[in-house]
Amino acid sequence: MGRQALVDAAVAQLARLFGPEALTPQAVHLHDWADEAETATPADAQPASAHPTPMSTALPVPWRDRVHLAGSEFAPDFPGYLEGAVQAAEQAVYALQAQRRAHPWKR
Ligand SMILES: Cc1cc2nc3c(=O)[nH]c(=O)nc-3n(C[C@H](O)[C@H](O)[C@H](O)COP(=O)(O)OP(=O)(O)OC[C@H]3O[C@@H](n4cnc5c(N)ncnc54)[C@H](O)[C@@H]3O)c2cc1C
Repeated sequence: MGRQALVDAAVAQLARLFGPEALTPQAVHLHDWADEAETATPADAQPASAHPTPMSTALPVPWRDRVHLAGSEFAPDFPGYLEGAVQAAEQAVYALQAQRRAHPWKR
């Protein structure tokens, strides 16, 4: 799909969600995060051949208390599925809540 086709499809979807006014946006900014060297690697361009196997979600220090991974791939069960996405999101929220209870002054 080319850039314009992608923009057209996105605008059409916004119009389905928010009504015909969304068909005439003032501007459209399309940013492909896969082009960002700090976000994606060439390996990310390869389609996954299978659902991932569960992996340890314990990050090394100093990231452990600073980054909470909420994607399905980081779920203890069902990684790569919707159930895994819910589990991973819940896990990240619980970790954040526990962190805020322990250190309410940190944001
Ligand atoms: C075609 C298809 C069919 C599927 N069918 C099923 C099924 O039948 N049953 C099932 O259980 N699972 C199915 N899945 C898998 C399921 O959809 C995913 O496991 C689940 O949606 C993952 O949820 P998530 O919250 O981890 O990530 P996502 O739903 O991928 O959400 C991540 C979000 O982050 C955004 N994002 C990514 N990078 C950035 C960035 N750098 N900056 C800002 N935003 C960013 C993305 O745009 C996206 O909105 C299917 C997946 C696909 C692709």
